[in-house]
Order: sequence, then C-alpha cells, then structure tokens
Amino acid sequence: MSRRKKIYEGKAKIMYEGPEPGTLVQYFKDDATAFNAKKKEVIDGKGVLNNRLSEFFMSGLNQIGVPTHFIRRINMREQLIRLVEIIPLEVVVRIHAAGTLSERLGIEEGTLLPRPIVEFCLKDDALGDPLVSEEHIVAFGWASQHDLDDMIALALRVNDFLSGCMLAVGIRLIDFKIEVGRVWDGDFQRLIVADEISPDSCRLWDIESGQKLDKDVFRRDLGDLADAYTEVARRLGVLPSNVTHTPKPTLVN
Ligand code: UDP
Repeated sequence: MSRRKKIYEGKAKIMYEGPEPGTLVQYFKDDATAFNAKKKEVIDGKGVLNNRLSEFFMSGLNQIGVPTHFIRRINMREQLIRLVEIIPLEVVVRIHAAGTLSERLGIEEGTLLPRPIVEFCLKDDALGDPLVSEEHIVAFGWASQHDLDDMIALALRVNDFLSGCMLAVGIRLIDFKIEVGRVWDGDFQRLIVADEISPDSCRLWDIESGQKLDKDVFRRDLGDLADAYTEVARRLGVLPSNVTHTPKPTLVN
C-alpha cells in the first residue's frame, strides 16, 4: 500500500492511484467525524463495514441500471472505482423530516414528507456546506441545468432502490446524501453516482422501535456506532465473517 500514490485524503476515505488509467482505489478509514470535523473519533471496524455496505448498495444500483463509480471490492477496506470529476454538490434526498430540515422549518423529526424532497449543498467545508438553490448552482456554474435534471433523476432512482432495500429488512430510510461524478465515454459525458452510500451518509431508523442505526448515533452520543452499522450489515446479509466488532467471549458454566 505504501508504494501506491495517494491522490487525496478525506475525512473518512483515502483515494489511491488505480491499477489502470481511469480507475482509483478507495480506502475506507475507521475515522468518524461530525459537525464539520469538530467531533472526531476512531471507530474500530467502521471502515470495513462501510466498504461492504457501499459495495452492496452501489453494485445493486449498477445491476438495476443506475450507473455508479463502483467496479469491484478489492479487500476488507478497499474497492476499485472509476475516476470521476466530482460535481461540487451534495445531493440530499429527504423522505421523512430530520436533521437540518427539521431545525430550519420546525417539522418534527420522523414526519413523512408529502413527497421525496431533493436538496443541494455546496461542498465547501470552510463555508460549512451551505444549502444552495438551483438558481445559485446554474448562475455560479457549479453544474448546468441539464446536469441538475440528471442529478435529480439519479437521486430519485437511488431513493427508490435504497428505500426498498431498507424496508425489506425492517429499516426506514429517513434521508440520505449522494455525490455525483462526471465521466466521459468517448465524446459523451454522463453523470454517475460516486463517493459512498453507507450509514455515514443515510439516516436509518428501525421501523419497530425507531432506534437510530446511522451516524446520528455518533453525532448525538446515542451508543456504539459500530454496533449500529453491524446491525444494518447483518440485516442486509453483508456482514463480513471476520469483522473485528464481535461480542466478547462469555464464560460458560
Ligand atoms: N449528510 C452527509 N454529509 C454531510 C451532510 C449531510 O452524509 O456533510 C447526510 C446526513 O447523514 C443525512 C442527510 O445527509 O442523512 C441530511 O443531513 P442534514 O442536512 O439533515 O444535515 P445533518 O443533520 O447531517 O448535519
């Protein structure tokens, strides 16, 4: 690993040069951050779980014709992905009210919205990823109107897929964030889902109990984050056999 060229290191992942042109290796770290990295912790096993979960969601999307950057998983913490030009926007889809939407508009967390709502935030840590309108996006040239239409269509297809996956295992998808990248196929450019899809970027509540199974466990100090992510992975049937986060042995009489 040390001989590979590091292209970029973010809060939760590192990108290395890939084995072929147009590819990257995405490495999932155990670091958890929240509130623009003001809160930080290393959560044993988180990277392994998110690598598996992102593989599960991205490969499922590829299989139903929603294009993503995912090519294949390499090992416990790494996956091979397509190199994309990241659009500098976070695309948030909200099905139920939570987080900043609830704060901004005074809607109780968990309220079902009249329809899925797509929001855009500018990817800029120094500004705290501010919410921006489609007018801002087109006027400042962060994406074209055509890109916006494609991003909304992609985000809504991801929503249908993710909501269905989660409902099948007794989990309610509250909201999620995706990132979108531009790729060139010959002379044609198209937009594909990039970055990751994991409990770091979704809100997931147990349907029966309402228990939170996502990064809010860390943001709001609600318990053990790895336990929550392990539960999501277990329900989806993607728990790696040798994940480090296993219950401690108990004495048998
Ligand atoms: N989200 C994310 N990265 C961010 C901001 C938000 O993955 O930098 C996800 C978050 O986990 C949630 C959704 O986007 O699933 C909506 O988040 P919200 O705007 O409510 O902000 P938050 O409360 O997470 O700050």
